[in-house]
Amino acid sequence: RAKDIPAKIVVLGESAVGKSSLALRFVRRDFIPNQEATIGASFLSRSVSLVDESPPVTIKFEIWDTAGQERYRALAPMYYRGAAGALVVYDITSADSLRKAESWIGELRRNADPQTVVVLVGNKCDLESMRQVSIQQGQDLAEKEELLFYETSAKDGTNVDALFTNLGKTLLSR
Ligand code: GDP
Ligand code: MG
Repeated sequence: RAKDIPAKIVVLGESAVGKSSLALRFVRRDFIPNQEATIGASFLSRSVSLVDESPPVTIKFEIWDTAGQERYRALAPMYYRGAAGALVVYDITSADSLRKAESWIGELRRNADPQTVVVLVGNKCDLESMRQVSIQQGQDLAEKEELLFYETSAKDGTNVDALFTNLGKTLLSR
């Protein structure tokens, strides 16, 4: 069996948008409510077989979940440097978190490896009644910046596996 292909992924975005919950949903296939705030960054990994590829390949996602607080922002380059993929996460119930996401996209454009595949992620899509950011707004930003785009829910699992599977396919096609 061929070796797993490692892919370093960094998760960026404002505090409380659900970065840790998304990473945990993907890796442990569960929602862990009342997660303690991330200090600095934490590391999680999960291997996923892409059976549609011929020959099938297994990607080992090595996920760096960062802290969104301003005081950790200076550390972010350590995590996005050399990353194959970056998830820039906002919360669909917070217009402010989308503005923060735009600023992360700008920072990645200026400082990250141009090969890094960036995914814009609108999380908490289960909270439809509290929505402040339309799907169209997310899509427009993603189109303008040429990013992959997903709305997800770490809580109910919507689109979480789809996001990583598609990111994996995109990485392979580069
Ligand atoms: P982080 O600071 O970006 O890592 O965010 P956390 O993962 O710690 O989540 C912040 C808060 O949002 C927690 O109370 C989570 O339980 C909640 N949360 C995270 N993702 C979702 C989601 O998809 N839906 C809902 N309803 N709540 C979520
Ligand atoms: Mg966190």
